[in-house]
Formats: sequence, C-alpha cells, structure tokens
Amino acid sequence: MGFRSFAFFLLFALVLTGPVLGQDSVAKRVPLIMIDPGHGGNSVAGSLDERSNSSPNNAKSPSGIFEKDLTLEFSKVLREEIFAVANERGEKLGVVLTREKDVNLDFKTRAAYCNQQGATCVVSIHFNADGVGKSKGSLALISNPKRNPNYEMDEKFGKALAAACSEGVQKLLPSSYSRGTITDGHLHGGLGSNFFFQMARLPQLKNIPKCFLEVEFIDNAEVERAILKGDRIANFRTIARPVAEFLVNHALGER
Ligand SMILES: [Zn+2]
Repeated sequence: MGFRSFAFFLLFALVLTGPVLGQDSVAKRVPLIMIDPGHGGNSVAGSLDERSNSSPNNAKSPSGIFEKDLTLEFSKVLREEIFAVANERGEKLGVVLTREKDVNLDFKTRAAYCNQQGATCVVSIHFNADGVGKSKGSLALISNPKRNPNYEMDEKFGKALAAACSEGVQKLLPSSYSRGTITDGHLHGGLGSNFFFQMARLPQLKNIPKCFLEVEFIDNAEVERAILKGDRIANFRTIARPVAEFLVNHALGER
C-alpha cells in the first residue's frame, strides 16, 4: 500500500472500530481526570458573542512570571503526581490535559476536550492576583447556584480541592491558608464564567464536579519567593501531591 492509501486504511480502521472501542469495558472502566491549564498563547481565543473567549494571561508575578506558563507547568506536574499516586495503589486512570504547549484555546474547545466518557471531574488550573500584591491563599471558583443544578456537589468538591492544595502550599509557605470556594456570580456582568457556560451544554460533563483551582496569589512577593523561586518543579510537586491524592480518591470513588 502506498502511504496515502495506508493512511486512509488506518483512518477507516479507526472509524470502524470506534463504536466497538466505545463499548469496550476499558473505555468505561478507566476513570479520567480532566485538567485544563488556564490561558496560553498571546491573544484572546474565541469570542464574547459566542461566550467562548479565553484570555491569554491574567496574573503576573512581581518579577514578571506569567500565569499562563505556571498553569501549564503545574498541570504537567499534577499529571505526573496523579500517575504516581495511581501507580502506588496499583490503579489505572487517565489524565487529559486540554493543552500541552503555549497556545490559547477558546472555552468551547477546552470544554469539548473534556467531554469524554469516563470523565470524573474538570479542574481548570489558575494562579490568582489581587492587583496590590497583599493576598495569599488557595481557592476554588465554582458556578453560581442560580445557574448550577450541581452547586452542592461542586461546593463540596471545590472546598476539598482548595484544602488539598492549601495543604501542599503550606509546606512551602506556612502562613498560607485555604479560602474555600467562591462562585462566579461576579464575572461577565453576572453571567458567570464562559467556561462553565460551555461545559454545562455537554453530556459527559453534566453530572461531574467542575471548578477553577486558583493555586495561590502570584502578585504577592512573599508567595513568589516561597513557591515560584528556587526549584519550582520540586515546589509544584510538593503542592500537587495532596491535590493528586484527592483527585485520585475522587476518580476511583466515581466508579
Ligand atoms: Zn487565570
């Protein structure tokens, strides 16, 4: 077979086996943890009209480290920690990252990547800023109860996730603490997060917890010194470990 016809054969074979794979117990048995590294690239992706717009970057540290780079670094470390925890327990689970490099994706695309059979939760990774560099703490942002039929589930999940993250941060910055959850009622003139808006429309995501995890306030110089300087990957591993343990427990409990 020439390359082209072989490529077509492969494509055809995949299409043909698609439904069979879908029914395979493996597809159902392996729980998936969806991680979205927030922001990326250099320009806005999507549009406000479609409610799909994702900004390339929001927060920045005092020395100029961008949130978009930290979200990607942290997400990759978190994925490794999730696999490490799962391996230690002899369990199999999958991790889906919505992006692997410095690109911005609109929220429709991010939501579509997460909309997979076996998805147990969606966590969008972010770093916070208060604009004056005075705040610290980890928090989860969840969808407002007015628009969210799963508010209680999201609240419970977000609170536990923020606490797990804070447990890791406190090993590097003992004065940090968990701020629990806040809702997105203040965003987009009361409409809420466009990511939640896009995810609410997708069947695999309807009944699983979804939140943004704001790891820490990176415009605070004390936070920057404690978690972004030195061996940042090792620092992120320290923070990600309890987060991974929580997410693995959650994912396995979903089966
Ligand atoms: Zn952000």
